[in-house]
Amino acid sequence: MFKLKKITRTLFPLLLLTSVSQTIQAKEQPNVATMATQIEAQVIKWRRHFHQNPELSNREFETAKTIAKYLKSLGLEVQTGVAKTGVVAILDSGRPGPVVALRADIDGLPVTESVNLPFASTVKSTYNGQDVGVMHACGHDTHIAMLMGAAKILTSMKDKLHGKVKFIFQPAEEGAPEGETGGAEVMVKEGVLSNPNVDVIFGLHISSGKEVGTVHYRSGGIMAAVDPFKIVVKGKQSHGAYPWNSIDPIVTSAQIIMGLQTIVSREVKLIDSAAVVTIGMIHGGTRSNIIPSEVELVGTIRTLNPNIREHIHQSVHNKANSIAKSMNAQAVVTLPLDYSYPITYNNEQLMTEMLPVLQATAGAENTKLTNPVTGAEDFSFFQEKIPGLYLFVGGRSKDTPANQAPDHHTPEFEIDESGMKLGVKLLTNLTLDYMGNHK
Ligand SMILES: [Zn+2]
Ligand SMILES: [Zn+2]
Repeated sequence: MFKLKKITRTLFPLLLLTSVSQTIQAKEQPNVATMATQIEAQVIKWRRHFHQNPELSNREFETAKTIAKYLKSLGLEVQTGVAKTGVVAILDSGRPGPVVALRADIDGLPVTESVNLPFASTVKSTYNGQDVGVMHACGHDTHIAMLMGAAKILTSMKDKLHGKVKFIFQPAEEGAPEGETGGAEVMVKEGVLSNPNVDVIFGLHISSGKEVGTVHYRSGGIMAAVDPFKIVVKGKQSHGAYPWNSIDPIVTSAQIIMGLQTIVSREVKLIDSAAVVTIGMIHGGTRSNIIPSEVELVGTIRTLNPNIREHIHQSVHNKANSIAKSMNAQAVVTLPLDYSYPITYNNEQLMTEMLPVLQATAGAENTKLTNPVTGAEDFSFFQEKIPGLYLFVGGRSKDTPANQAPDHHTPEFEIDESGMKLGVKLLTNLTLDYMGNHK
């Protein structure tokens, strides 16, 4: 508060006057902190239930049933089977105002849990034809529990709300099994952002590496776009002893790979935004003395800025085609290959508007600007259509040093449950504050 007041008088009076009023508004909801404490044990109990009973992407049948049953018990209008196993509920205040969506992803992963917990998962299943253990190894169990908690608090405050809240429990964030579609993209296609039209969406991800009690934000790109691509380099086959009779796709591919590496290192202004071009697969040839007729390269592009994304796409086509041409070969570029994720892009204006809510909820010292990450998140499909914010919430115990925190998607993955309380408060306060400002 001191800092805000001080800057208000000096640098950006208009912007920060808004911020100060929002901070005060967020503090006018003392109930939220009290209620989050009152329901903390319940939230932990929910989380443990989901942790012990994880289900794979597009297979979240029991998870969805449990969520839907609870939301119905709150008296909400509940829709099931959205994008196969998704659950959507509407809380209608009966008063005019915006429609705020809150999203939690609900799927587990094909990982066998090795953490020694009384509620550890022993669930087994099959994934793409393989026998696997199933574990909430990304923390989506905490996301479900936090959003159920926020739903409980917001429902109890119905009389104070303006507009509607849409609770979106989304399946298959980790990606649908082979041959299936799923997740946010399908929910959007099925109309989850309309009827009623959603104005704004908020989502959180718990982080095993960030300390409990902290929230991490970033304006603009916070997680990367993913664009897998394939290049088929077509040449002419010959005996390996007579290369002059060939058009060699292997040498051409080698040059294309090196050429692609210069896009990020020589064309992208990396001080503005990071980017990655990776070739992860090369297939070509059958034996040492045959120059094959074609080679296949498969890779992935990660970007955090729409203009850079566009530039890299064009440059991949340009480099592959020009280099192939210079070798008398032909390159056929498929970009995107089979799927594509947009940038998880936090709307700048909304981030500015909501930052004081984060500070008021977590404390200014616990509200931290984070670096973007080159991993991806399908929350981006919602943000592609409407303004939204995606934030990270701390789930690392204060007793665990940062460099010893287990990674997401590993058998050792673990979350300190005391971190969920802040998540519940953030989802609730973001909703209340946005409604207060846009009624
Ligand atoms: Zn994950
Ligand atoms: Zn995740």
